[in-house]
Amino acid sequence: MRMGSSLSFVRNKFAEYYRSNSSFIQPPTSIEKREFGFLLLKERFMLRHRSFENVGVLRSFLKTTVPSDAYYSGAYYERPEEKMEEKGWLGADLIFDIDADHIPTPCDKNHDSWVCKNCGTVDKGLPPEKCPECGEQKFDEKTWPCEVCLETAKAETLKLIDILSKDFGFSLEEMRVSFSGHRGYHLHIEHEQVREMDQMARKEIVDYVVGIGLEATLHGLEKTSFDNRSRILVGPNLDENGWRGRIARGTYEFLLTATLEDLKRIDLKRHVVKTLLDQRESLLESWKEKGPWGKMKNVGVESWKKIALHGAQRQAAKIDTVVTTDIHRLIRLSNSLHGKTGFKKINVPIRGIEDFDPFKGAVAFKDGSVTVFVSDSPKLRVGEQIYEPFKEQKVELPTAAALLLLCKGAATVVE
Ligand SMILES: [Zn+2]
Ligand SMILES: [Zn+2]
Repeated sequence: MRMGSSLSFVRNKFAEYYRSNSSFIQPPTSIEKREFGFLLLKERFMLRHRSFENVGVLRSFLKTTVPSDAYYSGAYYERPEEKMEEKGWLGADLIFDIDADHIPTPCDKNHDSWVCKNCGTVDKGLPPEKCPECGEQKFDEKTWPCEVCLETAKAETLKLIDILSKDFGFSLEEMRVSFSGHRGYHLHIEHEQVREMDQMARKEIVDYVVGIGLEATLHGLEKTSFDNRSRILVGPNLDENGWRGRIARGTYEFLLTATLEDLKRIDLKRHVVKTLLDQRESLLESWKEKGPWGKMKNVGVESWKKIALHGAQRQAAKIDTVVTTDIHRLIRLSNSLHGKTGFKKINVPIRGIEDFDPFKGAVAFKDGSVTVFVSDSPKLRVGEQIYEPFKEQKVELPTAAALLLLCKGAATVVE
C-alpha cells in the first residue's frame, strides 16, 4: 500500500517536471541518427532502440511516458531503431565518465553499503571484487550523492580537462561538462575528428589519461654524465609538456605533504624514507633548479621510480574506462531527471566549474513539502539545507529532499 503511494508520488512529480520543463530538453546533434533508451518508472524495464525525428517528438514522448531515466547513444547510426548488428554504426562522440563509485573516498564507509545478490552478505563501503562469503561478484549497491565524493569527482574532472586541453589540444569550447545528477560528472566531445575512432583508438586515449604503464625512466629519469665525470641522476622538470611535467608535478606535490606512512606504503627502504623526511626542505627547494633526482646520494633510481610513479598516479584522471571505449554507450540526456535522486543532469560551465554546487544546481523541485517515513539515511544536503542522518522516523521535508530519499528507496510517503 505504502510502496504504491510512494511510487505514484514520484511519478506525479516526474510528470510535473516534464510537463513544465520539456522545452529545456536539448536534443543531441543529429538527433535522427541517435538511439534512445528509457528506463520505465513503474515497470523498471529498459526500453531501447527508439529514435526521434526531431526534438518535438522527443519532448512529447517524455511528457507522456514519464521515464525514470532517459538516455541517448553517443553513437550515430544509419538506422538507430534496428537491432544492434543492423543499425549501421557511423561514428560516436568521445565520452568520459567520472563517477565517485570508481574513486575511493574516505567517506564511502559512512554512506555506502552493498548486499551480495547471491548470499545476502551486507557491509558498508564500496563492494569488494568478490563476496568474502560466497565468492560471487554480483552486488546490489546503495550509494549516495555526498559532498566529499562529488568534490573528489570534480577534482578528477579538472585533471581530465587539463589533459585533454594541454596534451590533446581540445579547446574548452569543444568540451561539454555536465553533472550526472547522481555521483559524478560527464565530459563529452563531439568533434568530427573523434567520431570515427574505433574501440582500440579510444582505449589508447584512456590509457594515456589514466597513465597506464608509465615508467619514469621513459620520461626523463636517467643516469647521465657531464664532461666525463661520474654519472648523476636527472629527471623531468615541472614545466615540461605531457607526462614528463605531470610526473614532475606529481612528485613535487607528493613530497610536499608525504608522511612516514605514505612513503612506507610505496615500498621505499627505511633509510630512503628517513632521508626524504629529513631533507624535505632542500628537496623542495631543488625544484628551482634541476629537481631532486640526483640530489641525495642514498636515494637511487629505483627509489625515484617508485616515488615518480606514485606522483604520476596523483596526476592521472580516474575515469570509468569502460564508458569511453564502449562505442555503443547510452548516456543520460541533459536536463532529464535522474531516477535514483530526482536531481537533473545539467551542463556545467567549464570556466566556472570550481564554483559549481551540484546540490543547488541540480535541484529540480523548488516548491512544496511532503511527509515521509525514512528507514535509514546518511547525512545529506539539498540546496542550502543540511539533513542529519534519519533512522526509522517520520519527517516533513521539502519536495527535493523527500524525492531523493524516495528515489533511493530509503523512505516512503506517509498518507
Ligand atoms: Zn555472497
Ligand atoms: Zn562521500
